[in-house]
Amino acid sequence: MKPKVYITRKIPNSIVEKIEYTCDVEMWEEENTPVPREVLENKIQEIDGLFCLLTETIDEELLEKASNLKVISNMAVGYNNIDIEAAKRKGITVTNTPGILTDTTADLTFALLMATARRLVESSDYLQKEEWETWSPMQLTGQDIHGATLGIIGMGRIGEAVAKRALGFDMKVIYHNRSRKPDIEEKLHITFVEMEELLQSSDFLCVLTPYTKETHHLISKEELSIMKNTAILINTARGGIVDEQALYQALVNKDIWAAGLDVFEEEPIPVTHPLLSLQNVVSLPHIGSASVKTRLKMCEVAAENLTKGLNNEKPKHVVI
Ligand code: NAP
Repeated sequence: MKPKVYITRKIPNSIVEKIEYTCDVEMWEEENTPVPREVLENKIQEIDGLFCLLTETIDEELLEKASNLKVISNMAVGYNNIDIEAAKRKGITVTNTPGILTDTTADLTFALLMATARRLVESSDYLQKEEWETWSPMQLTGQDIHGATLGIIGMGRIGEAVAKRALGFDMKVIYHNRSRKPDIEEKLHITFVEMEELLQSSDFLCVLTPYTKETHHLISKEELSIMKNTAILINTARGGIVDEQALYQALVNKDIWAAGLDVFEEEPIPVTHPLLSLQNVVSLPHIGSASVKTRLKMCEVAAENLTKGLNNEKPKHVVI
């Protein structure tokens, strides 16, 4: 008998067909609505493998209901939506999709940095609202990117790819990471600094760590108060790393100049959220890895991880 698999969102047929070679597949057929919790609670009881997204909370309560589950394949590099310890206790393999989305996410991070620094969204709105009456010397002026200091927290795969892009813009790159990266320092001529110096010296601060207990609210009131009042915060990692209330206050008080956010503590962020009312915030709906090529590749790799795990082969990307 083939192992039973549940896919929590509609994915391309070509990939479903590949999974069907070795598995019995059921899928939540909606493209834009997450699978309801009750449905997942029901399905989890009978399946051997789960293909899920970061929109599903795979917590201990849910895992307790699973009796045959062997593999959880997350279609993301981050896996903060899964209770890893609970999965480990149950002997379930958890896989993710690192690497393939690195450059696409670094591109978006840099695009967001540029859009925020040069007020692209605000300027486009200004034109559309027919407010553009003349050219004037200080109209819609932003911050320079070239020659500025970029601070990166989390010099992993995406951090390194963002650093590479920054060098092309003649930026000075400094970073902080829980472990030093001498190879990357040498290769890219970037400098490790302590967190306080990173906060003090950065014109742009990019958050690129995973979201864990240690990184929860890593950027909060105190950190924001150390930053330059011309500084721009860019978060394309996970919302919970930045304390949004503290960020709102820092932006209103002009303790920092602007923020570019692709991720939020609650997703989707309610449109009534105070942060979205600020003109110096550029906000995106978690599109870091959203290129056609990369999203297809992520589906493909998540499918491969799942089928290998269920067929007694070692998946390529094992978290635990
Ligand atoms: P990665 O290669 O694992 O890099 C993460 C880096 O963060 C590592 O260098 C790690 O240090 C460092 N780190 C971990 N905890 C830290 C802490 N407490 N303080 C300082 N540094 C810490 O991961 P990645 O592929 O670059 O991805 C990073 C994150 O980006 C993912 O976890 C995901 O949440 C997010 N992401 C978002 C999108 C999006 O759509 N917006 C897309 C892709 C990824 P060590 O080297 O010591 O382990």
